[in-house]
Amino acid sequence: MILDGKVVAKNVEETVKMRMEEFNKKYSIKPVFKTLMVGNDPASEIYARSKIKNMRKFGIDAEIIQMDSSISTEDLISKIDELNVDKNVHSIMVEMPLPKHIDRERVIRKIDPVKDTDGQNPFNLGLLLSGDESHVPSTPMAVIKMLEYYKIELKGTDVCIINRTQVVGKPLAMLFLNRDSTVTVCHSKTKDLNEKTLKSDIIVVAVGKPKFLIDNMVRENSTVIDVGINSIDNKIVGDADFESISKKASISPVPGGVGAVTTMLITLQVIENAFREIQ
Ligand code: NAP
Repeated sequence: MILDGKVVAKNVEETVKMRMEEFNKKYSIKPVFKTLMVGNDPASEIYARSKIKNMRKFGIDAEIIQMDSSISTEDLISKIDELNVDKNVHSIMVEMPLPKHIDRERVIRKIDPVKDTDGQNPFNLGLLLSGDESHVPSTPMAVIKMLEYYKIELKGTDVCIINRTQVVGKPLAMLFLNRDSTVTVCHSKTKDLNEKTLKSDIIVVAVGKPKFLIDNMVRENSTVIDVGINSIDNKIVGDADFESISKKASISPVPGGVGAVTTMLITLQVIENAFREIQ
């Protein structure tokens, strides 16, 4: 089975429309989203623009605030402080990657947890640890939405996540644990990766290397969610060898997989943050 992210995104879109209608009935203002972009990383710019475009489609007042690549951590933090106290701003994000001289952790910690769009503030990650999924990072949540939409059993299943970052692997492990899966989190120092993937019912790969996951690493009738985004000769590909794996397992394509769901979930989070911020 091909796990089509566009179909799942459409499903999340229904919730976006419903919540936006409720918001418009209750309040005479629009939800306001600001994302801070430091420098001009081309991939990050394309991603930020597509997010903004999607939000505006539903009536969100969304804007990219462009900051110079030479901005200091202190000045970036001051800007976040400004947005935190601004009652007219409901949701904030900082586009990644940040230039090397910026202290990412200090920046992320500064975002008001209620306005945190991508659930990266340690307070929100802590909530996730305790089972509260009100501010969850969008990419891991998109993986779960894909699996739930296609009714893939999570309870009691063995899951292998190849990524241990704060953006993908760690929060995703919590989401799976909250759903009674048994999780193995792998990374660049993991021994015998094949052995672990072959034992798994579900594999999530987010390494950033084309054809990293190949068919002899995947068990017959298992499920693969490909989070990777790589550009080869101006073509976007994932981390899994789609052609061969799709013959033996269910798999999400790239493009048209997790990314489409992520964008819609971010839009939904902005509306939810606006509800909470106003209340
Ligand atoms: P990252 O920070 O570079 O992390 C890559 C992860 O893969 C790390 O945990 C790393 O292990 C692990 N890894 C690298 N080489 C490995 C190997 N040989 N064996 C096992 N594990 C290995 O990248 P990221 O920001 O998490 O993103 C990963 C991919 O997902 C990228 O392609 C990115 O574009 C994509 N992505 C997609 C979305 C979406 O919405 N679709 C969102 C975010 C990211 P160590 O921790 O040991 O270094």
